[in-house]
Amino acid sequence: MFMEGGCTCRHVRYRLTSKPMIVHACHCTWCQRETGTVHALNAMYEAERVEHIAAEPEIIDTPSASGKGQKIARCPICKIAVWSNYPGAGPAVRFVRVGTMDDPRQCPPDVHIFTSTRQPWVTFPPGAKVFAEYYRIDEVWSDEAKERRRALRERTKRS
Ligand SMILES: [Zn+2]
Repeated sequence: MFMEGGCTCRHVRYRLTSKPMIVHACHCTWCQRETGTVHALNAMYEAERVEHIAAEPEIIDTPSASGKGQKIARCPICKIAVWSNYPGAGPAVRFVRVGTMDDPRQCPPDVHIFTSTRQPWVTFPPGAKVFAEYYRIDEVWSDEAKERRRALRERTKRS
């Protein structure tokens, strides 16, 4: 096990069985609105590595910048969002909201994206990977994460 997390009222709790493939700090205006702050912080996981150990979240269809919509998993009681699915990767990938983890310090951002719309006072530490829009996976992901992604795509192709 890597870590647990959950919503504010503790009705929804999850267990992460490994480290994430990658952690995105997304500075797009949609993420700013959805989080009420300057960027989202999303840890990308294979769905089966995010195990619900209390109640199941409710899945809310939500508009997205792409126009294709996203599904946000929220606590049915306190409505805190714990993870999302995006249409690109579908239900096989869960973007876990790092702030809901019991120790969010273990998931600092690997990459900052859509920084063309960042709040002007946000600065980045030296050496941070910063992209005005999106990036190429080949250039940013670790070899281990690329292998996990490849395995995931094989599995979803078969099922
Ligand atoms: Zn709750």
